[in-house]
This record gives sequence, C-alpha cells and structure tokens, in this order.
Amino acid sequence: MKIGVPIEVKNNESRVSITPAGVFELSKLNHQIYVQAEAGLASGFTDLDYREAGAEILPDIASVYEVAEMIVKVKEPIKEEYKLARKGQIIFTYFHFASSKKLTDAMIASEAICIAYETVQDADGSLPLLTPMSEVAGRMATQQGAKYLEKPTRGKGILLGGVPGVTPGKVLVLGAGVVGIQAAKMAAGLGAHVIIFDISMKRLRYVNDIMPSHVTTAFSNEYNIRKHIKDADLIIGAVLIAGAKAPKLITKDMLKDMQPGTVMVDVAVDQGGCFETTRPTTHEDPTYIIDDVVHYCVTNMPGAVPYTSTLALTNVTFPFIFEIANKGWKEACAFNPALAKGLSLDEGEIICKEILKDRAMA
Ligand code: NAD
Repeated sequence: MKIGVPIEVKNNESRVSITPAGVFELSKLNHQIYVQAEAGLASGFTDLDYREAGAEILPDIASVYEVAEMIVKVKEPIKEEYKLARKGQIIFTYFHFASSKKLTDAMIASEAICIAYETVQDADGSLPLLTPMSEVAGRMATQQGAKYLEKPTRGKGILLGGVPGVTPGKVLVLGAGVVGIQAAKMAAGLGAHVIIFDISMKRLRYVNDIMPSHVTTAFSNEYNIRKHIKDADLIIGAVLIAGAKAPKLITKDMLKDMQPGTVMVDVAVDQGGCFETTRPTTHEDPTYIIDDVVHYCVTNMPGAVPYTSTLALTNVTFPFIFEIANKGWKEACAFNPALAKGLSLDEGEIICKEILKDRAMA
C-alpha cells in the first residue's frame, strides 16, 4: 500500500504519525511510505533517518496526499487540509468529529474513508489509541495547572505542594479515567490534596485502592462539585463519554463561587469541553480569563512534548497501520472488531452512531 505521512499543520503540533522504525517494518513487506520533508524533525527523526528506513521524502503536503492510498496523521485535518482528501482515500488519525461539525461536513464531502483513532475500542470498552495520549495529557494537566497558579500568569500565587508549615493546594479532578488518574497521581506526587470525581463507582473504588490517602474520591454530581469548587485551587476536566460531547460539569455561574486566580484545565476540550466557559486554545496562547478564573484549554496538549508523545502514540497505532496496510481497510475491519469501531465515515456515509446522534440533535 502507498502510505503518506504529512507534516501536522495544527498550531504547535510537532508529533509525527510513523517513526523510522515503523517505516522499516512496512518497507520489509514492500509497502511504499511517502514522508513529507521534515515531518519527523521536531520528534527527533531526520529525513535521512526516514530515507535509510525505506521511505521516500516528498517536498510538500499536496504531493503526499496525491500519491497516498492511506494518509496516517496525528491530529484531525484542519481547514487547509479538507480539500486534499479524496474519494476512497483512507485517513487514519484522531478526528474528534463530535467537536466540529465543519470537519464532519468536510470529510463527508471528501468521500474519504475516515477511521478515527479515538473510537478504536477493545472488547473491554477501553480505547487503546487514546490511552497513551491521555496518559501524557493527564500528567501535563497538573504540570500546566501548577504553572498557571503562579502570580505572574494571573493565578492565585499558590505552590501546589505547599511547604512545611503551609498547607498544600487543593486539586479537583473531574473524571477518574486515564487522564484523571494520571493528573491525580502527579498532583498527589507534588503533595497537593486531591479529590477525584466520577459517576462510576467502579472507577472510584479503583482510585481509592491505588492512591495514597491524601487523594480522596467523591461521586460526581452538581451538589458535590458546587461544594468543592469554593476553595479549590486547580480544577482539571477529564471526563469522557466515548464519541460524544462532554457533559458541562462546571457552568458559567459557578465561576462566581470560585476564588480569583483559580485555574481550570479542561483536558476534555477536544470533545467540546466539560466547562461551559471552555473554548479551544493553542500552545501559543494557551490561557484566557473569565470572572478572574484562568482557563487552560489546549486541544493538543501532548503536541508540546513530541519526543515522548510520538513514541507513546506510535507504539499503539502501528499494529493497526500494519494491519490496514497488509489487508486493506475492509478486511482489516472485518477481522479486527476493535479497528471496526474506529470506522466513522465510509465514502460520505456516516458509520459512527455517535456522529449520527449528534447531527440529529443539532
Ligand atoms: P476515560 O474514558 O479513560 O475516562 C473518562 C472518565 O470520565 C470515565 O471514568 C467516566 O466514568 C468519567 N465520566 C463520565 N461522565 C462523567 C461525569 N458526569 N462526571 C465525572 N466523571 C464522568 O477517558 P480519558 O482517556 O481519561 O480522556 C478524557 C478526555 O481527555 C477525553 O475527552 C479525551 O479526548 C481528552 N484528551 C484530551 C487531550 C488534549 O490534548 N486536550 C489529550 C488526551 C485526551
């Protein structure tokens, strides 16, 4: 199969979708890999590394899309890429269709085969292609939150871990999934007092079993959230309803109950966000302030640490890329139910139930 690896054009997105190791494995089976010049540079891979592994380097994104039967990306196509996709071309990447009607419309119009990383799902309900990026984003959420709590970035001026004689900060984590647990683990490691919320008692029991005693759990409902936001320093949004828009757990009126300089990091921004006041931001301009509350809502948090993220992502995407390349997408999906769950659009036809539901409600 002819496989294209374009440069990610989204703001400050430096990950790359296939490493030279992946190119090497695919080349052994006579697949042809076309990598856009400098696509891997920010993740530590030179064009020479790719060439030596068996790839052909192409000068621009248009030539990669033109030649490839399958485009493998990291982030969803953005406006300037919409017109590059074509009928019958496989696009395997994160799409997050629930958060963008424009993208859904554009991909329907392109008649490409869109397979979304984020909805590839194992039999136990886990999302294997979301997990490593959630691990990165969860850990980063606490790191970023701690930074924006500093006074020069208009935070409260609190050191999350406190110091001897001074109480540590209070962190609320909404969602006890992969992001939430990693965020809580980092905050607990700094010494903060952490409360982690979920609607799944199974998740809360698990958190209770594995976390130290300064991480406590709370059932996620409006009453409990309202009670705890009043003296929280950092609030991390980490909820997910697979393939659907995130529920709004913090409404605009709740901001008035928070202390000035409270920081809210909405990791769930890529699914529309779980704060009513969330709007997507970029690494270039990551925060904004509403009612004295600092909002950090970067949609591609792992993009800021490409050395770590590219390896973490490609470790899990590669087996699926390999399977699609070897069998073609139809047979690969028929053979592998986890991959079939990722099939969102088939030449303009909507396959993913959640996209259909969202469009019916819009
Ligand atoms: P996950 O499925 O592992 O966890 C989600 C958790 O949310 C589950 O435990 C679920 O029970 C819980 N939940 C659902 N409704 C809830 C509610 N009303 N209150 C509290 N908890 C609720 O998902 P994840 O991998 O942790 O991902 C979380 C979000 O982070 C997703 O939207 C994902 O797309 C996003 N994400 C964003 C970035 C970024 O760069 N911004 C990176 C990675 C992941």
